[in-house]
Formats: sequence, C-alpha cells, structure tokens
Amino acid sequence: MRKEIEIAMTPKQAADPSGWKTAFAHVLRIQPGRIKYLNPLQRSVDARSSKVKVRMKAELFIDEQPIEVRKFIRKSYNDVSRKIPVIVVGAGPAGLFAALTLIENGMKPIIIERGKDVKARKFDIAQINREHIVNPDSNYCFGEGGAGTYSDGKLYTRSSKRGNISEILAMLVSHGAEEDILIDSHPHIGTDKLPAIIAALRQTILDAGGEIYFNKRISDILIQNGKVKGVEDKNGERFEAQAVILATGHSARDIYELLHSKGLALEAKSFALGVRAEHPQALIDSIQYRQSPRDIYLPAAPYSLVKQVEGRGVFSFCMCPGGIIVPAATESGQVVVNGMSNSRRNSPYANSGIVVQIDPSDIAYLSEYGPFAGLELQRRVEDACWRASGMNQSAPAQRISDFTRGVTSATLPECSYNPGIVPAPLHEILPPFVAGRLQEAFLQFDKMMKGYHTSEAVILGTESRTSSPIRIPRNADTLEHISVAGLFPCGEGAGYSGGIVSSAMDGVSCAQAVVKKYRK
Ligand SMILES: Cc1cc2nc3c(=O)[nH]c(=O)nc-3n(C[C@H](O)[C@H](O)[C@H](O)COP(=O)(O)OP(=O)(O)OC[C@H]3O[C@@H](n4cnc5c(N)ncnc54)[C@H](O)[C@@H]3O)c2cc1C
Repeated sequence: MRKEIEIAMTPKQAADPSGWKTAFAHVLRIQPGRIKYLNPLQRSVDARSSKVKVRMKAELFIDEQPIEVRKFIRKSYNDVSRKIPVIVVGAGPAGLFAALTLIENGMKPIIIERGKDVKARKFDIAQINREHIVNPDSNYCFGEGGAGTYSDGKLYTRSSKRGNISEILAMLVSHGAEEDILIDSHPHIGTDKLPAIIAALRQTILDAGGEIYFNKRISDILIQNGKVKGVEDKNGERFEAQAVILATGHSARDIYELLHSKGLALEAKSFALGVRAEHPQALIDSIQYRQSPRDIYLPAAPYSLVKQVEGRGVFSFCMCPGGIIVPAATESGQVVVNGMSNSRRNSPYANSGIVVQIDPSDIAYLSEYGPFAGLELQRRVEDACWRASGMNQSAPAQRISDFTRGVTSATLPECSYNPGIVPAPLHEILPPFVAGRLQEAFLQFDKMMKGYHTSEAVILGTESRTSSPIRIPRNADTLEHISVAGLFPCGEGAGYSGGIVSSAMDGVSCAQAVVKKYRK
C-alpha cells in the first residue's frame, strides 16, 4: 500500500533519517518493519506553537516495495561539438542552465564569461575583503557561476509558474548538492558547497562538447539587418552564431550602455534599495523560537518581514541566518553589500537586506537619464556610501536604534563584514524617500518581532543590487529582443528573474526558445 502522510517530529527526530520510519510507524500505529520504503517529500520548521516542531511529509510504501526509485545521477548527453552553435554570454545560473538545455536538445553552447573560473575567482574575492581592491571582471558578482557562486545559495523562489523548479534542483543534486534541497521548504546550499557544484556543471557542459571561455568581456553585439550575427570581446575577438543568449546579470552596466548606444530598446522597471541589517543570531533565535540558546537540532532561525509604508513595500530580502555580510561592489568607487552563509549556517550573526520598493515614478527627478534613472540612483547611493566609508570597501554603518532616531552612532557593535564598518549617518546618506520609509518600517517590524528594533543591531549601506532597475524588452512568444532577431535577453540582468532558481529557469526557457526557432 502507498500512503502520503505528514507528521510532526521533534527537531532531534527530524535530524536523524534512521529514525524516520519509527516516527511514521508510531503515528500510523504499525510496526516500523512494515514500512518497506520511505520517500521524504517535504520538511519545514513549525515555530508557531510554544514547542518548535519539524513537519515532515513522506510517501510510504507499506508491506510493498515501490516499482521505481528516482535516482539523481548525472545525465549523459550526446556529443554536440559539431552541432549548431549558440552563444551564451555570461556563466551565471541563467547562462549555465541555458547551456545545459541547449545540450539536452542537441545544440552546442559557446559560453563566454568576463570573469575567471570559480577557483581563480576566490583570490579576487579575498582581495576585496583584505586589500579593498575590486577587480571589475572578477568579484562577488562576476566570474564562473555569476552572482550565484559566492552567494548564499538559498533556492527558494515564488516564480513556480515560470518553469520546473524540481528539475533545476534535481540537476543541482546530480552535480553534488545534498538531496535535502529536494524536501526542505526553504532549500539552501551554502557558499562553501557552491563552487564545487558550479565546477561540476562546467564539466558536464565540456564533456558534452560545449565550449566555455573565461576572461573574455563582451563589448559588442554584432547585428546586421535586424539579425544578430555574433559578439565581440574587448580585445576584438569575434564569435559568430545565429543566436545569442544574453545572460549578463544586473550588475553588467556596460551591457545596458552598449545596447543603448546601438539604439536597442531598454525600459525602466521597479527595483528595491536599502540597507543590510545584522542582529546577533541568538536574539533572532530567541524571538522566533522563544528559546535561548536554541535547540541544537534546530537550524539558525530565519525571518521574513514586510510592511507597507506610505504606499511602498519595505521588506526583508535574501535573509541569511548564521551568515555574514559581504562586499558585492563590481568596481572601485562604490560600496555595495549583500549576504551569504555556509551550509551549516553557524556564524553568530543573522543578516538580511531591508529594502524599499522603488517605482520609476519615485525617481522622476532623474528623468533626464531615461531608462537609466534607476541605475543612476543606485550609482549615487553606492558612491555616497563609498565616500562615507573613507573611499574603500569599509561600509558606512549605524545602530538601528540610532538610525530611527536620526543620530550617528558613537560606537558600533561587532559585525561580520570583513572589510570593516565605520559610523556614518545613513539616515542622511540614503535618499529621504528611502530613509524615511526604512525608519518607520524598523519601528513597525519591532511590533511583528519584539526586540528586532534594538541598539544591538547594525545596518550597513547599501543594499542596492536586489534586482535590475532596467528591463531589456523581449517578445513574449519568441523571447527575442523586440527589435533584434536571434538576440535572447535572459535572466536577472534582462529583468525577467530574481534569484538563482528563477534565473536558471529563465535560462531554460530562453534555450528552449532558441531550440524552437533554429533546430528545424
Ligand atoms: C552575495 C550574494 C548572495 C546571494 N544570495 C542569493 C541566494 O541565497 N539565493 C538566490 O536565489 N539568489 C541569491 N543571490 C542573487 C543571485 O545570485 C542572482 O539572482 C543570480 O545569480 C542571477 O543569475 P543570472 O545568471 O541572471 O546573472 P548573474 O549570476 O549575475 O550572472 C551573470 C554573468 O554574466 C557575466 N557577464 C557580465 N557581463 C559580461 C560581459 N560583458 N561579457 C561576458 N560575461 C559577462 C558575469 O561575470 C556573470 O558571471 C545572491 C547574490 C549575491 C551577490
């Protein structure tokens, strides 16, 4: 007999798969031995009642074996080295999954990436933290795996209608991610595990006959009579193909400028900007779990906050329990912060972006910049943070309680941000329509999470790269740019996704659109 059932377990029971059959058998009042096979389907922490539980849903086979057990082994593909070439610019989640989908459909991806491979990239990332030197082609956003490699690796997305999430997760598992991501309600990989997974994806692409070039920044898109012909890198090297998937991410500002200079349409879109807040993890655990210290079998507690303030959403973004804050600038002269954590989420800090939704109408005073108005706002705030920090990668910071009172902090608490923090008046550095809403939201958040608004917590500027302020418009059916045949704007930089999984799904969709158009 096959049965699907959800039960509540203690955190300790949930942490030990060898005891799962016994826990399910106990609820069903049967002998554990009668459960011949247990397939876990979903796992989530339930902290609503005084005793925190873990809810586990599973498919059970009682007194019988399943006909088939799904195994997550790496697929082997036919050789595509002599098949129709398709250029993929950018090796982020969108570009990599576009390449894998092309291979699956018998086309040959040629990936061109401005940054270095994951291993070489590590050195540049260390340099930002230690020497405050930002390599404009190799940093937290640029390089193999894109912004997804040294990211937090949370794989949660609300864009379930845009593609098959479980296929993306299964691909990651077959390249080294833990199977846990298939069942957790908020799956997470961690920065320590991501580089090896990205390297394994690269190997699959190369083994199938795809090509990958690093250290090649594309500086021109070749177009003739409204059709794409290929791309050219900054040293004049040309790559030709009938189709180009442009998956360059939201920080490739030079790509937006290139498209604009060639007269290709761009559109302003909503985005969000604000700060990154950091609390002691123990404080967040005690608010969320009502336990201090937390049960050793429970993960570091997350939170999710949203409040409408004066007609705009103010919300937590990319929350990293047990994480650290990192410098995510893509060139010198800017301070940008973001967050990440290791797979064990064991740092003593909890950080999250706290950002304000910005609509194009909020920045009408920048209308002379046309579709670049949002980008100009990002630039101005990032530059102001850089100047406030002493013109290096330290970040301007303020205790939350000082920010809401509008005073510069005399001292700052310990913080995970490696390049260092300096006291600065973020309430003055941020534009008034952002600072004012954040001040109000922090007070409101304290009503939702008692103790959130505290002098123990610090905010850092600026969290400006939440999503792209620009969209590269594409035809809804063919996914091609509205005026260039064969050019497929893709992923977060094109304005069609946000986050690792939705970007990967958009890569799959663009590659399928290419296949539909050219394989015939
Ligand atoms: C620190 C950090 C933590 C994050 N944590 C999470 C998280 O936990 N969960 C989540 O879902 N998302 C997270 N994100 C966001 C996530 O990484 C992005 O949403 C995702 O990577 C976007 O994918 P993409 O492929 O569209 O673009 P990107 O990942 O930005 O990739 C674009 C690629 O294009 C390359 N490129 C740019 N210009 C050129 C050019 N001219 N020529 C050649 N190549 C070029 C870049 O080098 C880059 O590799 C995080 C981001 C950061 C920075």
